[in-house]
Amino acid sequence: MTAPHLTASHLTAERRVRDLEQLAETTVDLLVVGGGVTGCGIALDAASRGLSVALVEKSDLAHGTSRWSSKLVHGGLRYLATGDVGLALESARERGILLTRTAPHLVRALPMVAPLSDDIGRRDGALFAAGQRAGDLLRVAAGTRASALPRPRRLTVAEATRLLPAVRRAGLRGGLLGWDGQLEDDARLVVALARTAASLGARVVTYCRATSLSGDGGVVVDERTGQSLRLRAGAVVNATGAWVGTLSAEVELRPSKGVHVVLPASALGHPAAAMTVPVPGQRNRFVFALPHPDGIVHVGLTDDPMDGPLPDVPQVEAREEAFLLDVLSRGLERPLSRADVVGRFAGVRPLLAGVEGRTADLSRRHSVVRGDDGVLTVLGGKLTTYRQMAEDAVDAVAPERPCRTADLPLVGAVGAAPQGVPPRLVRRYGSEAGEVAALADGDARLLEPVAEGVPVLGVELLWGLRAEGARTPADLLERRTRLSLVDAWHEAARPAAEAALAAVAAP
Ligand SMILES: Cc1cc2nc3c(=O)[nH]c(=O)nc-3n(C[C@H](O)[C@H](O)[C@H](O)COP(=O)(O)OP(=O)(O)OC[C@H]3O[C@@H](n4cnc5c(N)ncnc54)[C@H](O)[C@@H]3O)c2cc1C
Repeated sequence: MTAPHLTASHLTAERRVRDLEQLAETTVDLLVVGGGVTGCGIALDAASRGLSVALVEKSDLAHGTSRWSSKLVHGGLRYLATGDVGLALESARERGILLTRTAPHLVRALPMVAPLSDDIGRRDGALFAAGQRAGDLLRVAAGTRASALPRPRRLTVAEATRLLPAVRRAGLRGGLLGWDGQLEDDARLVVALARTAASLGARVVTYCRATSLSGDGGVVVDERTGQSLRLRAGAVVNATGAWVGTLSAEVELRPSKGVHVVLPASALGHPAAAMTVPVPGQRNRFVFALPHPDGIVHVGLTDDPMDGPLPDVPQVEAREEAFLLDVLSRGLERPLSRADVVGRFAGVRPLLAGVEGRTADLSRRHSVVRGDDGVLTVLGGKLTTYRQMAEDAVDAVAPERPCRTADLPLVGAVGAAPQGVPPRLVRRYGSEAGEVAALADGDARLLEPVAEGVPVLGVELLWGLRAEGARTPADLLERRTRLSLVDAWHEAARPAAEAALAAVAAP
């Protein structure tokens, strides 16, 4: 497969205006509504099959659930536990594709440790270890090598405490080490999908809300100008995640809310692995502490049904924060308190309806349904399996054209990472890191953090505006960088984001 041409992937303000003008006058093969991982994955799949594509997103790319995930690329172990072998295998296969072929710059192997504490009896420990071995069989079945994702093994007490320095020592018998995939940043995956689609000719238009859809197009409003226009298309896909019901009345979801809190890594002694703590009294439910670069740890996850109208940005409640801190503290030497929390976020899972019981038990399967109006709606699923979801959706539109995305590298995964640029740029931009660094153009300050105590460099803000479709300071702070995950970073970096926008907008 030839590499997409990079500048063709740049989502500039001029391109957005031009794309909208052209869309008013043409009929595209496919209109995709929603710029999360599902919609951007569909746009890429369709464009790579040679279809003409328009994607409209009411706000910014990754404005919805896709930026609020746990950032895990699951191998599907928990689906084995619920007996859904097909879904487990699909997850393991998609994990392997992301990790080794399409986005190796954004997905890495994450060590995950379940401490064998006195809370976990020998029988439960043996069951957990058996589950890890079954998860490893999934890896083998999916064709992912152990060099990419190591085999699970038992840890000694010394090994467990080295990986998890804050773990409670009393009664500790060691730990169980397993591996899964972890995204550098879920929003970056969405932006990479959108840009790769754009490099293949897709017209990706943010700040453009669909107000009504039919089988042959839809009415959209340009949120920047207020102008309304009708887009014509051979087929239409509603990929608005938890919000699908606002455009397709006949579909039914059972949304579920998930909450994370953000801790400084120092609060957990700078762990080198994720930590898994069982939720007391519940089978197959855990709280995870997931270490991320830049010295933070994400702690999740709640899973509670959400009724009534969905908010645009769900908020974290004090009781949800307390639940996460309480469960995690059971596994620690020193209990955590709210004073340790430096940020928090919540998202809504677009789960399939039709089943009674806990939302945590609802299947993460997806389906593509055609409404009476001819609109295709993508329901359910998860971030890990976006590519399969996209394949299924586009198969419903163009079954005669084979899917090509399993071997299509995303922008940033094309070619080797450059030498001699700041390591964080390689970590976040892969093979594009050299281009990002080059934006400094001799101004060394642009290769420094944008504010004191903040990890993001000046060139990252410029790249977000020039190549990645950011249009507002919030796009930069909340999605191109993830500075808003930590309240203090967000505040400190806001002036730099505003200044970068003014500098790029200036003639
Ligand atoms: C807390 C939490 C943790 C999770 N963790 C993981 C994980 O670790 N791994 C994993 O694989 N999965 C995970 N998931 C699941 C995964 O995040 C979601 O399934 C996935 O992100 C959904 O993506 P989406 O594109 O379908 O929806 P979204 O990302 O919500 O995208 C829908 C988009 O549609 C836009 N939109 C809405 N209405 C309109 C309109 N009228 N016109 C135009 N645009 C519109 C929205 O602005 C939004 O950007 C998690 C989910 C939650 C809630």
